[in-house]
Amino acid sequence: MSFTLAIVGRPNVGKSTLFNRLVGRKLALVDDQPGVTRDLREGDARLFDLRFTVIDTAGLEEVTDDSLQGRMRRLTERAVEMADVCLFLIDGRVGVTPSDEVFADILRKKNARVVLGVNKAEGAAGDSGALEAWSLGLGEPVRLSAEHGEGMDDLYRILTPFREEFAEREAMNTPETEVDIPEELGDEEVDPAAHRPTAKKPLQIAVIGRPNAGKSTLINKIIGEDRLLTGPEAGITRDAISVRSDWMGTPVRIFDTAGMRKKARVVEKLEKLSVADGLRAVRFAEVVVVLLDVEIPFETQDLRIADYAETEGRAVVVAVNKWDLEDEKQEKLAELKEMFERLLPQLRGAPLVTVSAKTGRGLDRLHDAIVRAHDVWNKRITTARLNTWLGAMTEAHPPPAPGGHRIKLRYMTQVKARPPGFVVMCSRPDEMPESYKRYLVNGLRDHFEMPGVPIRIMFRSQS
Ligand code: GDP
Ligand code: GDP
Repeated sequence: MSFTLAIVGRPNVGKSTLFNRLVGRKLALVDDQPGVTRDLREGDARLFDLRFTVIDTAGLEEVTDDSLQGRMRRLTERAVEMADVCLFLIDGRVGVTPSDEVFADILRKKNARVVLGVNKAEGAAGDSGALEAWSLGLGEPVRLSAEHGEGMDDLYRILTPFREEFAEREAMNTPETEVDIPEELGDEEVDPAAHRPTAKKPLQIAVIGRPNAGKSTLINKIIGEDRLLTGPEAGITRDAISVRSDWMGTPVRIFDTAGMRKKARVVEKLEKLSVADGLRAVRFAEVVVVLLDVEIPFETQDLRIADYAETEGRAVVVAVNKWDLEDEKQEKLAELKEMFERLLPQLRGAPLVTVSAKTGRGLDRLHDAIVRAHDVWNKRITTARLNTWLGAMTEAHPPPAPGGHRIKLRYMTQVKARPPGFVVMCSRPDEMPESYKRYLVNGLRDHFEMPGVPIRIMFRSQS
């Protein structure tokens, strides 16, 4: 078993051609196999060593009545529901049409995971179409030529993570008390998280921090029983361990490394391992909780991990534990906030929550902060709103003019979420100074209320 891919898009973009290429012509022509629905063709696809199921939504162009729009929509919606991933095709020679926008909308509303394909892009034919495709806000477009077989290696590279993820999903279909020991994700160039939907999967949280910060205590409190992280267990030493639970109505999957530290024998070794292991847990997470001990907050090790989480593009929540031990709460809080701003400026606006893992106080606030951070991390802003904002920003502070020629910002679009990523089309992107980029990043953060998540901006030129 593997994943299911639906090829969607308006008529004539090349869906059938691609379907045929993926399943092999002979199979594809068999339209009336038992079990194959009338409008949705299904086939076993093969792309190099990748096997998956492919659903084709083509064949509607022959329908000429006025219900075409409605039928297309229903068919696409059904395909999206059946599939794990959608390959949304547009015609690179034509560019983005209003009809494409309708499909993009359906996919967004359905919260589908989308790979955007720009077809008919053999040679340089799809160059401008591929650039335009960014404006759909569905991530980086892949150039393809279904007819000539070009771009199949890129498609392979993008689809490969889904195979691993599917295996992971199977593993997750186990009872809740089970401990998941994830395999290391490969170093794919494509971030599988970029295509991950939010609705169905548990929110992935890593709890990291120095030994004795209280990670095990916290996680046990969250999952509600001492079922996992107390005793050492053979075989799990080096791995990030995860446990799934329902936390105040939110399905979560929590990664922790406490099990291994419990059995480490030498102190120095213990410190070293916990850092490496914490870093590893970050890679599995969507939200990283940096757990600090109120008596020794913001140690070098904590700072390193928090910085790593930001670099990896994760949402960060800082939790200060053992708050029950603190007498001067007011003063301490002010001091912690000051340290946070000074020592971790890259996490500007990230929430800082005080908790007591032991008594359970503050855990509701921690929960809310995590859910909010996750929402912000998933946030999408429309191109229209972005450009209104960009206009105001450039008016307030025009971009610099290196060598006497002002850099022109043409337009901006969000190309990804998790974390939010933006492309600004402009003249001379290479000369854009870091300071102006920072001005835009901070402005975005404030105006669109995206505190505490990494924000990426890329500058591209139109030509
Ligand atoms: P569908 O309606 O989306 O299934 O589109 P089809 O697969 O029927 O293709 C529509 C037309 O585009 C056909 O004439 C194909 O030969 C042509 N076509 C499909 N893929 C490509 C391609 O990669 N390059 C070019 N130039 N034409 C293509
Ligand atoms: P870990 O190494 O990060 O997993 O930390 P543990 O969960 O094993 O906790 C280390 C020690 O701190 C234990 O003795 C806990 O009882 C204690 N501890 C954890 N959370 C709290 C807390 O909120 N308040 C107090 N006073 N002690 C705590």
